[in-house]
Amino acid sequence: MRHLPKVLVVEDEPAIAELIAVNLRHNGFAPVWAEDGPSAQRELDAVLPDVILLDWMLPGQSGLQLARRWRADARTRAIPILMLTARGDEPDKVAGLDAGADDYITKPFSTQELLARIRAVLRRRAPEQAAEAVELGGLLLDAAAHRVAYQGTELRLGPTEFKLLRYFMKHPERVHSRAQLLDKVWGDHVFIEERTVDVHVKRLREALGPASTMVETVRGAGYRFSAPAGGAAPAA
Ligand code: CA
Repeated sequence: MRHLPKVLVVEDEPAIAELIAVNLRHNGFAPVWAEDGPSAQRELDAVLPDVILLDWMLPGQSGLQLARRWRADARTRAIPILMLTARGDEPDKVAGLDAGADDYITKPFSTQELLARIRAVLRRRAPEQAAEAVELGGLLLDAAAHRVAYQGTELRLGPTEFKLLRYFMKHPERVHSRAQLLDKVWGDHVFIEERTVDVHVKRLREALGPASTMVETVRGAGYRFSAPAGGAAPAA
């Protein structure tokens, strides 16, 4: 029998938890519900899930505190965490990403969006391809040859834009804060301002031309590389 991905749903509102669980079950996932931090911890101590869906506002410990704790614990470190936040809580999103959440979903969300985000984090968890070439949405990046092409036409990118695009394409469908991008793409160049990221994203978009729509701005949170739906997303 096929392994059903187990999703730990940490949500204190039974109606929301039930709705999520029903939708997950109908779409081939095995949801487990925990209403607060301690019961979520008990579930984690018993069996590790494939994904954690974590509500921000919980009684007792907040989702943020729980995300930090699970990221610091070697046993739970690698489990993808999707945070559920209320609409318009931009600072929360940034804090959530900084605490180690992989992505977030704003309430109210559609079932399709929830499923897409869960599938995306599960894909990312799959072992990285050894091949140095990445192809997404018609955009091809060949790290070995240092080449980028869109639908067969070669594009000219500066070295920083190339590194930035490479990072985006290796980690698609997730939100990267400016601080995270500085850390991952620029390394520990402490004197670079976060605004520098915006400058290079702008240059990257100019170089990408028609493919630039794949580099999305996520207001108040950062950037996301997203290939068109139904396109050449990597197989799970
Ligand atoms: Ca709540």
